[in-house]
Amino acid sequence: MPKAITIEDIRVILTQPGKSRLCIVKIITSEPGLYGLGCATFTQRIFAVATAIERHLKPFLLGRDVERIEEIWRMSMVHGYWRNGPVLNNAISGVDQALWDIKGKRAGMPVCDLLGGKLREGAHVYVHADGGSKEEVADNVRAYIEQGFRFIRVQLGGYGGQGSGMVKPKNAPAGAYFDPRDYCRNMLDMIAHVRAEVGAEVELLHDIHERLAPIHAVEFAKDVEGFKLFFLEDALAPEDIDWFRHIRGACATPLAMGELFNNPQEWQLLIQERLIDFIRMHISQMGGITPARNVAIFADLYGVRTAWHGPSDTSPVGHAANLQLDLWHPNFGVQEWYQPSALDYAIFPGLPIVEDGYLYANDQPGLGIEIDEALAAKYPCQDIVEEWTQTRLPDGSPTRP
Ligand code: MG
Repeated sequence: MPKAITIEDIRVILTQPGKSRLCIVKIITSEPGLYGLGCATFTQRIFAVATAIERHLKPFLLGRDVERIEEIWRMSMVHGYWRNGPVLNNAISGVDQALWDIKGKRAGMPVCDLLGGKLREGAHVYVHADGGSKEEVADNVRAYIEQGFRFIRVQLGGYGGQGSGMVKPKNAPAGAYFDPRDYCRNMLDMIAHVRAEVGAEVELLHDIHERLAPIHAVEFAKDVEGFKLFFLEDALAPEDIDWFRHIRGACATPLAMGELFNNPQEWQLLIQERLIDFIRMHISQMGGITPARNVAIFADLYGVRTAWHGPSDTSPVGHAANLQLDLWHPNFGVQEWYQPSALDYAIFPGLPIVEDGYLYANDQPGLGIEIDEALAAKYPCQDIVEEWTQTRLPDGSPTRP
């Protein structure tokens, strides 16, 4: 038997070329020149993930056979005894994706070929249109349509919507305030306006970002039904998922959920009871390609499609991993896509490209993406105290961002 190729070193690369702090894992193998990259980006707690990899996973994984992805994933998940948390899941994902990258490089195949092969040449993407007014949102949607995009998420004034005459109590602390009732009125008005302006052909999406009380989420999903959204995202918080039954019973607005999920219990019920239409985990947050592959197959049996989370706090390596899954699984729905900068493309050669609303891979072995470490090092991660996640209701009480 040939000698196994083993994990020789695991390095964590932290970089911040834009707003988001990114965490990339590089696994170096015993085979000279053979390495893999994986995304472990939990941008708000980036240093905790880096430490989990360097101090906990690395000592435990050095010397292991790189081909044993399944064994390494399962043992990494149970080895710390406490499991299914965002820090550990992201750390495991960095290793998992890097091992898939290595396996693909050894086989001379892109990861989608290891999974079963391409089912489509490119993946539909959706992009984000926001604006300070409904007219501005409609203008931004039109601009995207002209660039060839057919799926467009519409938001007004960020996730909180627009406030109108919010009255705060005396001595109210600083924070990102919003009024959920204003939100419902403003967003409904904006979606009606955009649909009337841009016509029926373009697919519109909207993300509630778990900002509403459950009964108001039911009401909003009903109210928006006539505007034929492609999907309504995160209508409820993970803590309130039982309420999906009520939305389902009230209307046929397609529903998407999953970016905050950590634990298989969170997605199992929604898929089995067909309470949602699109499952959209953040693949590093759920532990990497290995569990995402399993969920994609599971969801397909129930007619639930995928729409993996893909904003700017998914690293370019994570986007490359998303795309490998998108190209393979039959129940792919749509891929969320950010607008990478020229610097992103320079630091991450091989970062997928969009043409006419489709995301394309380069068909290189593995994930098909590289990192220019010297350039990445010029953009170190900053110490940030996030402000947009310090969200408050009109009376000043903290709420979900
Ligand atoms: Mg979202």
